[in-house]
Amino acid sequence: MSYYVAAYDTEAVYPWWENPEDGFSYTPEYITEFLAGVRAVAEVHMQRAAPASFFLVAKMLELTGPALRAILDHPLFDIQCHTFTHPNLIALADDKAALTYELNDAKKLIEDTFGRAVTGLTAPGGYTRGFAGHPRILEVMWEAGYRYVRSVGKGPNGTVPAPLNQPFWYTQDGFPELLETPSHAWHDNILTGQPGSAHWPPILPWRYPAAMPDDAQGVYEAYAPGIDYCAEQGLLYYLPIFHPWSIYRIDQQAAQIALLLDHAGQKIELASCNQIYHYILARPTLASGESLL
Ligand SMILES: [Zn+2]
Repeated sequence: MSYYVAAYDTEAVYPWWENPEDGFSYTPEYITEFLAGVRAVAEVHMQRAAPASFFLVAKMLELTGPALRAILDHPLFDIQCHTFTHPNLIALADDKAALTYELNDAKKLIEDTFGRAVTGLTAPGGYTRGFAGHPRILEVMWEAGYRYVRSVGKGPNGTVPAPLNQPFWYTQDGFPELLETPSHAWHDNILTGQPGSAHWPPILPWRYPAAMPDDAQGVYEAYAPGIDYCAEQGLLYYLPIFHPWSIYRIDQQAAQIALLLDHAGQKIELASCNQIYHYILARPTLASGESLL
């Protein structure tokens, strides 16, 4: 069985590179647009009864918690953590107080806002090897109650797209029950204009787009071959990287997500991150016992 896993890194960024004098911020200038993006993605999922995981930057809850809860508090949606302020967690590996704020305090605020347990984390930006070799981060995560993490989300040397890495347990770093669920393919923000480094030669088993996509169809086409590849190769899952702010910037109805879900629904099963975590937990040998990265 193969799964299309829908996950959204939920943060209030905007096309900052178009107005460089405005600078860059994950908070609070574009709250209305941020909420509209989250709503558009949520509606596409609800129309299809398709599950999804939303990984929240907890700072957004301080700024607009009730509005975000009104959109996302639905049984289809799995609410998880994307840190408090979106830092580079590996740069904080030796700063226990900062890690505690970003991992424990963020988790608690999300749990208090939604009244649900948070057990999953997405590391801002993602890394080539994830948290392999970073036991201090894993220790803070484990003690805080996290049980799975998406920290592998880049190709070699921090490039995009991310190869189709499959899950592993952090056994080598001393946390044999902490699962890595790597993310895949393009980061939609970088695919559609945010400056970033793309890997050459191509690292995905399908073609890069001939030009930068600027509409829903183009974004869909950049990701869709991964659905067929996953089905044909019998991979456990395909987990493309998306952000509501960036989806909304390309299509205010999130039509690229609608196209992907409709395509995936014909070929493989749809799942949230929480569902794939529990699926693997019940069949632990589906994940490698060690990082192969
Ligand atoms: Zn992020």
